[in-house]
Amino acid sequence: MSISLQLQGILAELPHNVRLVAVSKFHPAEDILEAYDVGQRIFGESKVQELCAKYEVLPKDIAWHFIGHLQSNKVKYIVPFVSLIHGVDSLKLLLEIDRQAKKCDRKIAVLLQLHIAQEETKFGFSFGECLDLVASDEFLACRNIEICGLMGMASNTDDELLAIEEFKGLAAFFNDLQASHFSQQESFKELSIGMSEDYLLAIAQGSTMVRIGSKIFGQRN
Ligand SMILES: *Cc1c(COP(=O)(O)O)cnc(C)c1O
Repeated sequence: MSISLQLQGILAELPHNVRLVAVSKFHPAEDILEAYDVGQRIFGESKVQELCAKYEVLPKDIAWHFIGHLQSNKVKYIVPFVSLIHGVDSLKLLLEIDRQAKKCDRKIAVLLQLHIAQEETKFGFSFGECLDLVASDEFLACRNIEICGLMGMASNTDDELLAIEEFKGLAAFFNDLQASHFSQQESFKELSIGMSEDYLLAIAQGSTMVRIGSKIFGQRN
């Protein structure tokens, strides 16, 4: 099926409060334009160099989300234009985003990544580490960062019950953190969970942002 039909099918089944990040990594600019022509404006990329190259050639009203593992030394390349960074998984990275954002006089929206899967390979804070972070003086001193919510990836498994439990745990943590630390901050409202294989499960657990790649663009090479 074509990109536009796949995209329209997914958009039709998303509740109105759930936004779609079309994950275009490893797919060429023409594929992105096909989705753009259907009206999609949020695209997700996971490699800095690829994101910068696509930003240069594609329409400027695209909201680019960085969804991959971001190295501190590459933050400076995306901060001038990125609209949301999903995977902040260390204080060091957060401080570097703040520093670079200050330089270009921007406030950068970010999500904190929590490690909820069983695989060791996935990145992210534990719940305890996340609580320590948001209580730390260094975090509180950041002026050019806006924490807009949390992001997580479930285990890569056919076991739906496991994925549901992982999403449920993150959603509960999100609600607690919102009440305990961000009740005065309206922009703390995003729960970025759900990919091609599990987005319906994630939506049922309170996702506000799904990151879908292969179901729209096909398999990546
Ligand atoms: C690649 C990727 C996605 C999209 O994965 P699909 O299974 O192709 O939908 C979502 N989130 C992150 C963090 C990714 O790296």
